[in-house]
Amino acid sequence: MTLFEKIANHEIPAKIVHEDDELVAFHDINPQAPYHIIIIPRKAISSINDVTLSDATLVGKMVVLAGVLAKKLGVEESGYRLVFNCGSDAGQSVDHIHLHLLGGRGLGWPPG
Ligand code: AMP
Repeated sequence: MTLFEKIANHEIPAKIVHEDDELVAFHDINPQAPYHIIIIPRKAISSINDVTLSDATLVGKMVVLAGVLAKKLGVEESGYRLVFNCGSDAGQSVDHIHLHLLGGRGLGWPPG
């Protein structure tokens, strides 16, 4: 079981900001911006490479939740970034798909 599944199951503590039947969102332990939230599905999917059309609604809900949380954080006007890291070149370190929500400061482009 991955670290993020353990967080979703409350086996490892995290600052959870949202949970429902399908999704869990929590503060990143090593924030890269004033606001850095991780959104995961409860379903174990290793990476975006493993997402299929049958997961389209689930992944769509992750994006919808990100927008809801961005509004709650008050960054909907100032801006924010959503990121799926996939694989080693992107720095994916946990093999359970997760959407990063980063906001609260200017974010450089292109990313490092
Ligand atoms: P990635 O590099 O895209 O795989 O992102 C994994 C993220 O999970 C990193 O930003 C880590 O800081 C974060 N992370 C690792 N362990 C924990 C934890 N126990 N609680 C919250 N976030 C974590």
